[in-house]
Amino acid sequence: MIFETANAKLNLSLDTLYKRDDGFHEVDMVMTTIDLSDHLVFQKTNNHGTIHIEVDNRFVPTDKRNLVYQIIDYFIREFNLDAGVHVELTKRIPISAGMAGGSSDAAATLRGMNVLFNLGLSLEELANIGAQFGSDIPFCVYNRTARCTGRGEKIQHIANTPSCWAVIAKPNVGVSTKEVYDQFDVEIHQAKINNDKLVRALENKDYLEMVKHMGNDLELVTEQFVSEVKQFKETMINAGVDIAMMSGSGPTVFGLCQKERQANKVYNSIKGCCTDVYKVRVLG
Ligand code: ATP
Repeated sequence: MIFETANAKLNLSLDTLYKRDDGFHEVDMVMTTIDLSDHLVFQKTNNHGTIHIEVDNRFVPTDKRNLVYQIIDYFIREFNLDAGVHVELTKRIPISAGMAGGSSDAAATLRGMNVLFNLGLSLEELANIGAQFGSDIPFCVYNRTARCTGRGEKIQHIANTPSCWAVIAKPNVGVSTKEVYDQFDVEIHQAKINNDKLVRALENKDYLEMVKHMGNDLELVTEQFVSEVKQFKETMINAGVDIAMMSGSGPTVFGLCQKERQANKVYNSIKGCCTDVYKVRVLG
């Protein structure tokens, strides 16, 4: 039996550069991991080639629409595995929220299958397999702060992350990443993000310099159809966060605080207007 943890991610930045000929957007973003995670337990079964996923959330598919299923299916075929796999998935990461829940579960499955079947693949090899299934999966395989370019799959690790807390508020709706990108206009939505300066601030563990260079240029798109994005940001700023912004394509909004006491105050303020709120440590 193999246990894996799948951490959620937050975007410290998301700069969308242009739409490529293959339909993907070229991005330049910095992502980090947080102490909010799904849990997966993998077990071999005697039912050759059979994949069974048990999940505690009725909104998560358990068939081939689930990335966990797709990764296991790939391993069974690619490595001729003579067994079935049973997975117990405990969901804690909000769904369709911009926190890479599905991608992180997929990454945990890559790591889990590698150990369960003693395949001896490196993290780099797992990340390369993961990239075929989703742009955020390589980042989730390594599970630490990185600058991600290309369509998100090219990873450059960042050694340090200043210690801080995040208060996270998820509006009561999900958004599809594709839908947000379809509405995105590179000419109009240029947030002032400087990823070189952001990376330098992280490397120097300079929290105040880090928050100066954070930003997400998908925010202006998502807030057009999810009014809570603006509202939650305002509430968090009034409650004293150092920066409030959206993660990924949203609609999750998060605020950063250097001190836990400050994060507690923000948590209590946002709890009044949002039912899905978390206070977590940024893990780096
Ligand atoms: P990202 O930040 O990478 O864009 P997200 O938070 O926007 O991810 P997910 O929570 O990963 O979105 O879910 C998006 C869709 O993927 C859901 O509609 C769901 O049906 C599907 N999905 C596939 N596998 C999973 C999984 N293991 N957990 C949750 N959703 C999954």
